[in-house]
Amino acid sequence: MSHLENTKVKVILKPGRTKSIRNRHPWLFSGAIEKVEGEYQPGDIVSVYSAEGELMAKGFINPHSQIRVRLLTFQEELIDDDFFLNRLRRAYQSRNVLFSNETNTYRVVHADGDYLPGLIVDKYDRVIVVQIYSVGMEKLKESLIQWIREVLQPDTIVERSEASARVNEGLVREKKVLWGELENPVIVLENGIKYTVDVWEGQKTGLFLDQRDNRRRMATLAAGKKMLNCFSYTGGFSVAAAKKGAETISVEISELAQQMAKKNFELNGINPNQHRFVTANVFEYLRDTEEEFDIIILDPPAFVKKKTHMENGSRAYKDVNRLAIQKIKSGGLILTCSCSSFVHWVLFQQIVYSAAKEAGRSVQILSRFGHPVDHPINIFHPEGEYLKSMLLRVY
Ligand code: SAH
Repeated sequence: MSHLENTKVKVILKPGRTKSIRNRHPWLFSGAIEKVEGEYQPGDIVSVYSAEGELMAKGFINPHSQIRVRLLTFQEELIDDDFFLNRLRRAYQSRNVLFSNETNTYRVVHADGDYLPGLIVDKYDRVIVVQIYSVGMEKLKESLIQWIREVLQPDTIVERSEASARVNEGLVREKKVLWGELENPVIVLENGIKYTVDVWEGQKTGLFLDQRDNRRRMATLAAGKKMLNCFSYTGGFSVAAAKKGAETISVEISELAQQMAKKNFELNGINPNQHRFVTANVFEYLRDTEEEFDIIILDPPAFVKKKTHMENGSRAYKDVNRLAIQKIKSGGLILTCSCSSFVHWVLFQQIVYSAAKEAGRSVQILSRFGHPVDHPINIFHPEGEYLKSMLLRVY
C-alpha cells in the first residue's frame, strides 16, 4: 500500500489562526496561512502546522483556490490507500444498513459530509456515477477507480464532473466511462418504484436522489387527490403519487425529461395517458391556469447558485410560492423546497412568509424536512447543507 503524502511540505498558519481547524472545519482558507515551505504540485496531500509547530491537520493543497487546503484529517495518521479505502468502506457500510431491497439507488459518498473532500459517489444499482471537484481527488482518480471497484464491486463507473465547482478549482469538465461498459439508461428501484435513469445525459448524476423521502411522503398524502408536480424532471414525485392513486399533472420545461417521465409511468404499469404532462415554464403555467389543486410540489432548481444571485433568486422563490399558494384549494398541501445552500432555513421561511402575505391566505407549516440519511451534513461544515423543504397547509 503506497503512501500518498508529500512529506516535504509544511503549511504554516499565522499566529493565532488555529481556530477553524480546532473547530474541525474542513476548509482552510488562504488568509489563515503564513507560508508554505517546500515544493509541491496542486492536489498534493500536505501537513498543516500551527505557528508554534504543532501538527494540526492534513489535506489537499490547491494554490489556485481560496480554499487553499481541503482537510482530510485532524489527527496524526498516515494517508495511504488504506486511509481512503476505510473512508469509502465506512460510508458504504453506513448506507447499506439504511436501505432495504426496495431501494438500490442512493448516494454513497457526500463529499465533506463523508470526510472525502470534493468527491460525490452515487449508486444506480450496479452503475456508479462519480463527481470529482477537488484537484486532490482528481489526481487520485486512477486509485479511486480501484478503491470503488474493491468496496462497491460495480459493473460500471462513470464520471460526470460537470459542476461549476470544478472550474473554481482550476479543473476542466469531464464526462467519461472510467471503468466497465455503460448500458444506458439504467433502471433502478426507489421505494419499490422503478425509474429509468439517464446517467450520461441526465441532470446531476441522473436522478435527484435527495428527494427520495419527500417522494414517498407526498405519495402517501396524494392518494385519491389531484397533484400538481412543478419542476417535475423525470416524474419522480408524479409516478410515486400515481401509483398510490393520485391524478397527476407534471410541469417541466425539458421535453426530454417529460418523455422519460412517461416512460417511468409505463415502467410501473401506469398508463401515462391517464395523467397530464405539460412542457412549460412553471411560472407561466401557474399564472395562466384556472385550475385548482389539492397538492402542489414545488421543487425548483437552485435559484441562488452564487451570493450575487441572492436578490433575484429570492424573488423567484417568492413568486413561485405566491403563485402556488394562490392556486391551491382550501385545505390543500404544498411541499415547497429550496436546494440553494445560500438560502438558509430562516431566510427560506421569510421568503415563504412574504409569499403567503402577498397571496392573502392562511398558511400553516406542518413540517420541515432536511437532508435524507444518505446526504449527511458534517456538523463542523454547515455550508454542506443545501436542501430545505416545508410542508404547508393553506386555507
Ligand atoms: N422534483 C424532481 C427534480 C426537480 S429538478 C425530481 O423529483 O426528480 C428541477 C427541474 O426543473 C429540472 O428538471 C429543470 O429542467 C426544471 N426547470 C427549471 N426551470 C424551470 C421552469 N422555469 N419551468 C419548468 N421547469 C423548469
